Amino acid sequence: MSQKEFEMYQSQLRNAIDEMQLEDKESVYSLLAQPNRFFEVSFPVLMDDGKKKVFTGYRSQFNSALGPTKGGLRYHEGVDAGEVKALSGWMTIKCALAGLPYGGGKGGITVNPKELSEGELERLSRAFIKAIHPYIGEKWDIPAPDVNTNGQIMSWMLDEYEAIIQSQEIGVLTGKPLELGGSLGRTEATGYGVGYTVREACNKKGIDLKGATVVCQGFGNVGSYACKWLADQGCKVIAIANSRNGLYNKDGIDIDALFKYYEDHGNDLLDFPGAEYLDKDKIFEIPCDILLPCGLGGAITGENADKIETKVIGEGANGPLTIEADEILDKKGVLIVPDVLANSGGVTVSYFEWAQNLQGYYWTEEEVFEREEKMLVGAFNDIYKIYKDEKTKNMRSAAFNYAIKRISKAMKLKGWY
Ligand code: GLU
Repeated sequence: MSQKEFEMYQSQLRNAIDEMQLEDKESVYSLLAQPNRFFEVSFPVLMDDGKKKVFTGYRSQFNSALGPTKGGLRYHEGVDAGEVKALSGWMTIKCALAGLPYGGGKGGITVNPKELSEGELERLSRAFIKAIHPYIGEKWDIPAPDVNTNGQIMSWMLDEYEAIIQSQEIGVLTGKPLELGGSLGRTEATGYGVGYTVREACNKKGIDLKGATVVCQGFGNVGSYACKWLADQGCKVIAIANSRNGLYNKDGIDIDALFKYYEDHGNDLLDFPGAEYLDKDKIFEIPCDILLPCGLGGAITGENADKIETKVIGEGANGPLTIEADEILDKKGVLIVPDVLANSGGVTVSYFEWAQNLQGYYWTEEEVFEREEKMLVGAFNDIYKIYKDEKTKNMRSAAFNYAIKRISKAMKLKGWY
């Protein structure tokens, strides 16, 4: 993916700006087409065999016009400069449209964490923070979990950071466990947010959630909670696939039972008693009302988009549709809730966590979900209005349009153009 993903971000930006009534379009494009700051670090880590291995990591502080840069850290073999830049560009758009006082950032390490022991993973995480600590901070750049990173990794990073700066600044990272200042509801937040925005899209399309069929690719933190929320509203989740296997049940899979099975079977779906086996590569061929690509980027392409029969897509993953796929599905009349909106629940509750940390005052789970839902439904409707009133190409360009208006005003006031 890499450079291609970054070009995809830039072309989404270009399309949106071309459609907009905006003063000095070229300056806005130039300021939002590249990161404000981007750095690559390489650092040694002691492995269990006694040898040192050098790893490469990245952090992109894409745009800070609206506030400190915010976004996750990803551990994956495919992480490279282009991917991190693209993801940090999308974070910039995401934070702006969700109404958060943040710019966008993203980072990661090129590594397959499944090949590391627990000790190696801890040393890797601490070494990465040591390398990037001068450039992050609770009022400057605030990392969080992303693909293959979690609350435990945030905890090691926080410990390392605080030891270096000699101060307890828990707001420097979000997605922390509750015991270390995490927020109630952060775990479910991204998946539930996919649910809230998909429900709004279904309302617009006249689809009743009761009995609506759902197909989901990816059963990690995002996909699993999106399925759970939609199943709780009466949807039938008929097919699910992860990177290894798939499941199918025309009457609907029992998501609560699957949660338990998944945990007990090392994050595998195989042989789950409540469904038939499905070849994971056939997941996008199953007709449904709601399709949720919640795995990695680039899953739906010009090759497989033709076979998709659905009415609403909720992009739980970041960048799951290529430009070609987007065009094919747009033509088919599918209402696509773009990633920058659909999965913005995660960073929205990260913002709540940060706000609670800075105040030292904590909210109930009910308050968190209520405020998250209100913000996401508000953002969906503002964007849908732009889509209809300004006749933008699709919801994605409307989302970019809405975010660009906010960011460009802030950049203008700060004298950036
Ligand atoms: N990694 C998540 C995202 O892509 C969350 C980022 C955050 O909470 O800062 O939106």
